[in-house]
Amino acid sequence: MIQAATSNDLFLRAQNSIPGGVNSPVRAFKAVGGNPRFMVSAKGAYMFDEDGNKFIDLINSWGPMILGHASELVQKAVQDAIPNSLSFGAPTRKEIEIAELIVSMVPSIEKVRMVNSGTEATMSAIRVARGYTGRDKIIKFEGCYHGHGDSFLISAGSGAITLGVPDSPGVTKGTANDTLTAPFNNLEAVQTLVEANKGQVAAIILEPVAGNMGLVTPADGFLQGLRSICDKEGIVLIFDEVMTGFRLARGGAQELYGVTPDLSTLGKIIGGGMPVGAYGGKKELMDYVAPAGPVYQAGTLSGNPIAMSAGMAMLTYLNEHPEVYTQLDHTAGKMVAGMQQNLEQSGHKFTINRVGSMFSIFFTDQPVNDFESAKTSDTAMFGRYFNAMLQRGIYLAPSQYETLFVSTSITEDLVEQYVQASIESIKEALE
Ligand code: PLP
Repeated sequence: MIQAATSNDLFLRAQNSIPGGVNSPVRAFKAVGGNPRFMVSAKGAYMFDEDGNKFIDLINSWGPMILGHASELVQKAVQDAIPNSLSFGAPTRKEIEIAELIVSMVPSIEKVRMVNSGTEATMSAIRVARGYTGRDKIIKFEGCYHGHGDSFLISAGSGAITLGVPDSPGVTKGTANDTLTAPFNNLEAVQTLVEANKGQVAAIILEPVAGNMGLVTPADGFLQGLRSICDKEGIVLIFDEVMTGFRLARGGAQELYGVTPDLSTLGKIIGGGMPVGAYGGKKELMDYVAPAGPVYQAGTLSGNPIAMSAGMAMLTYLNEHPEVYTQLDHTAGKMVAGMQQNLEQSGHKFTINRVGSMFSIFFTDQPVNDFESAKTSDTAMFGRYFNAMLQRGIYLAPSQYETLFVSTSITEDLVEQYVQASIESIKEALE
């Protein structure tokens, strides 16, 4: 039984001074019941909370900690950078080095601009697409999440759907009208939207592997189909690789699936745990960004030296160790296979989607390939499963509409522990 008294007290106290007691909605356990754990430290595969509990972490800060927590190489880079000042607000050599590294790793990126979050990256990318094409509308997919920019809080996934607000109040009608939505994996719907809005669509933006409605993979030909539509209609294709960048392969989903977008957005792993995002793409497009071009975008702390040092250490390691991706695929494959085998024997209905080190379980008898099918999952069952796993020391994302992220710190022993805990938890959740 995990201890909870201190975390429970802290959560009560937090609600007096922080909206909902958390600084990002999905950290609250609203969708699964119970109170969030308050963390004090983490190392490798484990996180330790205020109550003295130890958890095997399968969220990894929602993706960034691909090498596990407190990676020594990232920490050393940060420690080495600190004495030279925390911020200059002037250019540094390190910013060129990380830009060159990103350009060499990500197929679509010829020039890149660093920002401070994934949200900033996606907001800026659509501004560039609009500035470049002189068009206003964008197409996004139902259940995809691109951060909390106004244009994206339309049929949004992640915390927005978890908390039942996929279309957030506070977004003006004008902004909402410029965001068109289509079901994920539905090329026909995209084609229809494009024809109905001929010459008005600036960009199509998507998570090439969607991770914010649970994990949903692109159907064969879907990404290629979008590429062709964009080529034909002069639309900017944007891959939001905030989750998938540097995670599914060195060059992200675009490398894995062999489809090159015009612009890409990055976040999470790129900062090694520090607040970093980036957007980049073809020179022709990126030269529209100020001061090279007229599309304005700026940031007091953009390219921050500490964040760049952390990111540089992380990306350099991944670039030089492609075997990381084989290892992660193997580990996540074993975790999923272990669960699958047992669930099949139990006769319970489920779907598990996985690409490399990202996966999700849905308690449904349908294949899950878009938002509608994701919503057929039994979320009450997921909540019981989540809490049963937590009691067994396994920390999962507290929502059906999220993916799990495996780190290189998950050893064979931990795979066993995870599978065993999953089997017991599903049994308990069914009782
Ligand atoms: N895009 C995707 C695909 C994401 O998963 C997220 C966050 O989870 C974002 C954008 C927003 O990134 P951030 O939370 O750093 O603003």
